[in-house]
Amino acid sequence: MDAGRKRELEAKVYAGERLTRADGEALYATDDLAWLGRLAHHKRTELNGENVMFNVNRHLNLTNVCSASCAYCSFQRKPGEKDAYTMRVEEAVRLAKQMEDEQLTELHIVNGLHPTLPWKYYPRVLRELKAALPNVKLKAFTATEVQWFEKISGLPATEILDELMDAGMESLTGGGAEIFDWEVRQHIVDHACHWEDWSRIHRLAHEKGMKTPSTMLYGHIEEPRHRVDHVMRLRELQDETGGFAVFIPLRYQHDFVDSKDGVIRNKLQARTTMASPAESLKTFAVSRLMFDNVPHVKNFWVMHGLSLAQLSLNFGADDLDGSVVEYKITHDADQYGTPDKMTRDDLLELIRDAGFVPVERNTRYEIVKTYEPGPKLAERRAEPQQVWA
Ligand code: SF4
Repeated sequence: MDAGRKRELEAKVYAGERLTRADGEALYATDDLAWLGRLAHHKRTELNGENVMFNVNRHLNLTNVCSASCAYCSFQRKPGEKDAYTMRVEEAVRLAKQMEDEQLTELHIVNGLHPTLPWKYYPRVLRELKAALPNVKLKAFTATEVQWFEKISGLPATEILDELMDAGMESLTGGGAEIFDWEVRQHIVDHACHWEDWSRIHRLAHEKGMKTPSTMLYGHIEEPRHRVDHVMRLRELQDETGGFAVFIPLRYQHDFVDSKDGVIRNKLQARTTMASPAESLKTFAVSRLMFDNVPHVKNFWVMHGLSLAQLSLNFGADDLDGSVVEYKITHDADQYGTPDKMTRDDLLELIRDAGFVPVERNTRYEIVKTYEPGPKLAERRAEPQQVWA
């Protein structure tokens, strides 16, 4: 990128002007990562100061049986396959109770599109979970699942959301977005929920007062222009509803081998690598700059590793996903040593180590507690430093 174009983009960012599609593509094309990080950090600091938010949550997957076979998915199993499971309502409650400790504030529930489970199972699980864990917020189901519930129940999404909310659902999850552009989507997604339905269901949730997350799966067969397009669609919907609380770039996991049976289930593996750390930082930075009307950008560290998660806080991210006891959709603890769970104290230390102020939030992104920041980075140099994998 020539110096003139750089100055033009800088001027727009510092003046708070909205960036165009061409601007987003130009930002991805730059090799000047430090410059890009500075711009994104400006925007991030303007919106969120030195805060890094987190919440303490656990993931619960009620079933891994799925009617679809999305190309990148290592989680789904077919009925009768070894390792296929579906929890009875009582089992789900028992497992959730085991996960509960004083500090758990949120359960994140996503599942396969089970071919025969009746629709009524899902609100029943939420009701029983809510009764057993009244203080825990339930963030449940992707837009893809809600569309599946429409199919199996014959009910419209508005009635489905009403019933799920009545049963205790606080928010939808952000999954199922992947990459919206059909050029890419047709090769990676194997269910019927695309941009039209995904946006319809989130719009409906926003109309009902929910704050929902939005996501993007990057680093597989898409190109940077597809990422720009993806974010621009979300930005437009956000202009309309204001209902997205956060944007979460999810790094596609190329190297997943199921630890139980050693099987590679990712059908894209032979034709993909994985986004490099530099490409990941670029994706966080450009997303922060382009998605100017979303309040927060989250790094789900299970997919990025902890060092990269810390660095991303200087490239636009201001939110880290909390303690995760079980996360199965794409990842086990990886070969680089990234753990699959952290405690509250680990998270506080990780955030302070990166030079930021830890802030605990709830599911709606309201502040629960602001913690003391750590000593300034310059003052910490004499101390032994923690190495985060
Ligand atoms: S990503 Fe979701 S819908 Fe697609 S195969 Fe996996 S579990 Fe099923």
